[in-house]
Amino acid sequence: ILEIKNLMKSFDKTEVLKDVSFSMEPGEVVSVIGSSGSGKTTLLRCINFLEKADKGQIVLNGEVIFDGAEKKRMSNDEIRKKQLKFGFVFQSFHLFPQYSALENVVLAPKLLAKERPDFKENKKAIYEEIEQKAKSLMDRAGLSAKYDNYPCELSGGQQQRVAICRALALNPEIMLFDEPTSALDPEITNEVLKVIKSLADDGMTMIIVTHEMYFAKNISDRIIFMDNGVIAEEGTPKQIFEEPRNARTREFIASFA
Ligand code: ATP
Repeated sequence: ILEIKNLMKSFDKTEVLKDVSFSMEPGEVVSVIGSSGSGKTTLLRCINFLEKADKGQIVLNGEVIFDGAEKKRMSNDEIRKKQLKFGFVFQSFHLFPQYSALENVVLAPKLLAKERPDFKENKKAIYEEIEQKAKSLMDRAGLSAKYDNYPCELSGGQQQRVAICRALALNPEIMLFDEPTSALDPEITNEVLKVIKSLADDGMTMIIVTHEMYFAKNISDRIIFMDNGVIAEEGTPKQIFEEPRNARTREFIASFA
């Protein structure tokens, strides 16, 4: 479903991604682990066009959606269309504080619906469908009592679950999670991880940048260990956690033991 080819990204003179390549099958769950500053977040942001990589290619379902060799600049509209293929969940939720939980989830789908040719005549039905879908996502995430609450009235775990629903409401092909629990207290972390796990069980393709080693080990089909801008090692959770071949992986895993 996704192929990342020789991705490179520098900020000024610092090479943050040096030559990153990997590919994913539909339904695969890949966790990206590695020490702070190794480039994990930058990798996710390049995949989702929040950063523009300097070189390399990103191929989604056989279509080249990013080509570093392409000189022509992408228009904002093109970028936005490509971003819609991915659902992005940030470390720090990023909900709109002035909207209720439900409004946060329906906002983008409602805006997008305006581009449908049948929008004018079917507005009511289209909006209703969007709300129903949002509510069913929220119900599944244990938020059925929180539709009308504002972000400031929700715990961090609830806010993050709303953020996950908001990303899912746009029917992304791939979900990208950037340290989704690192801003949460340990006791609420689990409620968010449970929601992510249930998505994995449903076959959602996901890339998860995480420091939750136990979670990564349990949920992932594959683990990518990044070190200093490169993929130092990748393999099954068993390989990476129990039989790491690379000295840096061993050191990193041992620091969590
Ligand atoms: P962490 O686990 O701490 O989030 P990470 O592996 O996700 O780390 P990145 O956030 O990708 O690492 O950052 C990699 C390097 O790139 C860091 O040295 C960081 O300072 C630098 N960097 C990231 N974003 C920018 C930016 N917008 N401008 C300049 N430097 C940046």
